[in-house]
Amino acid sequence: MTAREDAVIINSLVRQALTSMQEVMGDHGLNAILKSCGLDKFIGNFPPNNLEPSIKASQYAQMNQAIEEFYGRGGKGMLRRIGKASFQYGVREQAALLGIAGVALKVLPEKQRIKFILNGMADALKKSNPQVEAWLDDSGDKLAYVESTCAICNSRHSDHPICHLYVGSVSEAVRWATGKEYEIIETHCLAKGDEYCRFEVGDVKE
Ligand SMILES: [Zn+2]
Repeated sequence: MTAREDAVIINSLVRQALTSMQEVMGDHGLNAILKSCGLDKFIGNFPPNNLEPSIKASQYAQMNQAIEEFYGRGGKGMLRRIGKASFQYGVREQAALLGIAGVALKVLPEKQRIKFILNGMADALKKSNPQVEAWLDDSGDKLAYVESTCAICNSRHSDHPICHLYVGSVSEAVRWATGKEYEIIETHCLAKGDEYCRFEVGDVKE
């Protein structure tokens, strides 16, 4: 297993994140964030769509932190929107990797659909980067998506869960699979000292 401080993010994932950040924050917002984290090299110059290591996971975490701080009270919502855009990017650009190409989910019960897409997300991440440990937790009453190598909170410390971008991605995945808005709750976070980040699928929002 890779030590958490040595963890890296691959090019295609950085490209996905930057594209989603640009969509949600615009060029101006994105460039300000990149400058503030010392990642100026990505300004107007996104990494290629391949599996080569790109940046350290801790740098990716710093970008998340910078967005949260830059937008103040709106930071959490902004990161969730970026997470949603990021899942939609996956649907557009990586349907085969996500295992969703040509799949007809409508025939499945809702719980099965949620399990299908969360398994797809975990498998896609693991296939892209062998360092990643992610899985579907269906051991309790509620389904949850879990990652013990979450990059968003790498090297960060907090008394509350902070992986808002991930919450957005999981909620958009579940919405894609069911057509409904479920509440996603981050119940565990590595930044709090937990063993993993865990995103639980709650009830349907009214
Ligand atoms: Zn996390």
